[in-house]
This record gives sequence, C-alpha cells and structure tokens, in this order.
Amino acid sequence: MASLLTMKSMDETTFSRHFAAGEEIFRMGDPGESAYIIECGKVEVSTMQVGAKMILAELGNGEIFGEMSMMDNAPRSATVTATEDTRVIVIDRARFHRPRGDRDPLMNMLLRVLLTRLRDTQHKLCGTAMGTGQIDPATQEIQQSALRQIRIEDEMRRAFDAEEFELHYQPIVALDSGYLAGFEALMRWQRKNGEFVSPMEFIPLAEGSGLIVELGRWALERAIKDQIEFAKCIGRVFPYLTPGFMSVNVSGLQLSEMNEIELMAEIIERSGVDPSTIKLELTETLLVQDPDIAAAALKKVKALGVSIAIDDFGTGYSSLSYLHQFPLDTLKIDRAFISNMNKSENSRRIVNSITQLASALELDIVAEGIEEKAQMDALRDLGCEAGQGYYMAKPASAEMTMKLIEGQPRWQEFGMEPSTAE
Ligand code: C2E
Ligand code: CA
Ligand code: CA
Repeated sequence: MASLLTMKSMDETTFSRHFAAGEEIFRMGDPGESAYIIECGKVEVSTMQVGAKMILAELGNGEIFGEMSMMDNAPRSATVTATEDTRVIVIDRARFHRPRGDRDPLMNMLLRVLLTRLRDTQHKLCGTAMGTGQIDPATQEIQQSALRQIRIEDEMRRAFDAEEFELHYQPIVALDSGYLAGFEALMRWQRKNGEFVSPMEFIPLAEGSGLIVELGRWALERAIKDQIEFAKCIGRVFPYLTPGFMSVNVSGLQLSEMNEIELMAEIIERSGVDPSTIKLELTETLLVQDPDIAAAALKKVKALGVSIAIDDFGTGYSSLSYLHQFPLDTLKIDRAFISNMNKSENSRRIVNSITQLASALELDIVAEGIEEKAQMDALRDLGCEAGQGYYMAKPASAEMTMKLIEGQPRWQEFGMEPSTAE
C-alpha cells in the first residue's frame, strides 16, 4: 500500500486528456502549469490583435504546445483550442523539475522544439529564409524516443498506484554458523496479467526518469515495516540470535538531493525500527562521481545509526581511495567473482584480496550469488562472514519469508534444499 508520503508526490503524473472539437485547452493570460503533446487530433493557437482573432499556428499529431509557460512559469501568451476531437499527453511542471538522470529524452525533446521555434522566428524577423515551423526528422526521432519513454514511465506510475510493485526478500546467511544474518529487499513488478518485469529492465528506466526516487522511498518504507515483523519472528524462533538486518538498495539519485535524504531519515525515524538493523546498499558510482554530495548524504544517514554497504564491489571503479574516506560498514562482493571462483584461480585470488582488504579496514563482507555448496565452503575458508544466493534461498515474498523463518532455517555444511520461491 503506498503511504501518504509517497502518494503525495505520485500525483505529479503525466496523463492523457481528451478535448472535444471547439473546446479551449488554455486561454491567453492563464497561468501555465503544463505542456501538451498531441497524441491525435488538431489544435489551433491564436491571439487577439486589436480585437480580432489572429491564428498563429495549427498543430497536429506529435506536436507540442504550452511548453514555454510550463518551463518559465510566465502567463500563457496565446489561446489554444481543439479544432477536432483531440487527445493530448499532459506534462506538468512538477514532473519537469523532478530530479533526473543524465540522459533525459523529455528535456532533450523540449529544448529541440524550443530551438526550432526560436530559429524559425529569427528567420521570419530577418526576412531571410522561409520559416516553416516544421520539426526536422532528427527532432522527430527524439520526440518518438521521448514518447516511448514517457509511455513506459506512465505504465510504471500506474503500476505503482495499482500496487503492482512488491518487495521480495533474500536471506543473507552467516557462513560460519549457518544461521540467518539478515535479508536483502529486492523489488518486483508483476503486471496485472501476471507477467513479471525484471528489475534489470525497470530499475534503469526508473532511474532514467527520476521515478526511482519515489519507488526507492516506498521500498525503504515497506522493507522497514517487514523488517519489524521479521525481527519479532526471529526473536521468537531464535531467542539466542540477534534480530538480523535488512539491506535496502538505494539509487544514487535518491542521495543526490538533501531534501530526499531528509525524507528517508524521516521514514526511518518515524517507523520506530531499530536503525542498527537497517543497511543501505549503494553502488560505487555515487561515491566516486560525486564525493562531496556522497559524504554529506552518508553523514546524515549514519547519524541515524543505519549502516552502509557497497554493492557489486569489484565491478565498478574499484578506486580504493574512497574506501577510507566514507563511513562504510560492508562490502558486497559481486556475483561475477563468486560464480567463477572455483573455475578461475584469478577470481579466487580477487575474492581473497577483497576479504583481506575488508578485514584490514574493519568492514564486513557479504558474498553475492552463491549457487553451489563448493562456493559456500570456499568462501567460509577464505574468512568471508556472510553470503546470499540461490544455493541458500531465492528471494521470496514477505509471507513466504515469515514461513521460512518459522521453519528455523540453518544452512550448514550440507546446505538446505534450495528454495523453490520465484
Ligand atoms: P543486486 O542489488 O546486485 O541484487 C542481487 C541480484 O542477484 C538480485 O536480482 C537477486 O535476485 C540475484 N541473485 C541472488 N542470488 C543469486 C544467485 O545465486 N544467482 C543469480 N544468478 N542471481 C542471484 P534482481 O532481484 O533481479 O535485482 C537485480 C538488480 O536490480 C539488483 O541487483 C539491484 O541493482 C536492482 N534492484 C532490485 N531492487 C531494487 C531496489 O529496491 N532499489 C534499487 N535502487 N535497485 C534495486
Ligand atoms: Ca543489492
Ligand atoms: Ca549486488
């Protein structure tokens, strides 16, 4: 269930609207909240000149209007009326100003359209070439790609409202004792027709559009709620064990705005969870690309008492210099090294070096993607404290995870039957 906090920002959405022939879409002087892309139909752009209506342009499928006021907040400089039944995609200002990834087709498209129009006006003013106001093929291609992205993003937003997103949990096991050490929360999207969309597909799209900020906020809230229940259950089933931790993946985009970090802090504080049982997983990218922002963000979240893990360690920049600059707690060794460690001496050496490096820096280690008993044994021999992977258990729903805990799991030398979840 999306909380009030998340719902508040989910209404800044892109949506389709229908206008009947003759209906005014906006009027000269109106405040400009939105821009519009014509999906089908036609509109007329007009102004009043000495009491008479003057038609400035007629726009059709794929064309955009209202973008200037949406961008600069000035009142509308013209009136737009549907001249036939018209369906438009509405892009509101809140969406335009949301934090975004580097490659942004929407921004690209709007700027290209503005430039085309400005050049056209210049031509007209100077009386040089004939300005047609038409959009060139390159811009058209950019528009098509922006529309595709907008549609997928809309689908994801609708899916979020329809509660099609869920979190699954994968156990993280203490390799020496075989007991549960914690869980990693992993996002799942199941469409209403039952089809699963892989996070490998939708997370990059959500990052590209900025939607990851809201999805990530929701995931943190959901994971904390479930963690509170899991910890209670672990306390009943294993009274002699610590309650275990919950690792939540956090996108760099979530940590690039102080405002968002404040919101995350608020979610953690308000939830009443023991913050020492919450671990945020980040990739190296943020730490390396934006060290100042990362330092401020990590300082803020560390002050709450949560811990920080570096995800996919060894695959990114692997610049060791950042390791001691930030208040880190855990390194997660990427699956690629684990799957090769019993086949390639080099991978085994890399895992060994990362384990030693972590131990020298007093960081914990979690190995990802353990699929075979031999990998679990080898990791234990190398002194790796914890691991996760299909050999122990696949990610499963909160309900299945509760059942798993109640079954008093212990992954020892002979392992358990790999879970059939997912
Ligand atoms: P990740 O954080 O590296 O997550 C581990 C991935 O490895 C998960 O894939 C998990 O299901 C898979 N995995 C675990 N054990 C094994 C194994 O033994 N063998 C193999 N082949 N795979 C294993 P998943 O769930 O498809 O997630 C993919 C990626 O999507 C994650 O990689 C993470 O980068 C991203 N992601 C997932 N949930 C979230 C989220 O809530 N927020 C953000 N920002 N990213 C997320
Ligand atoms: Ca992760
Ligand atoms: Ca990982």
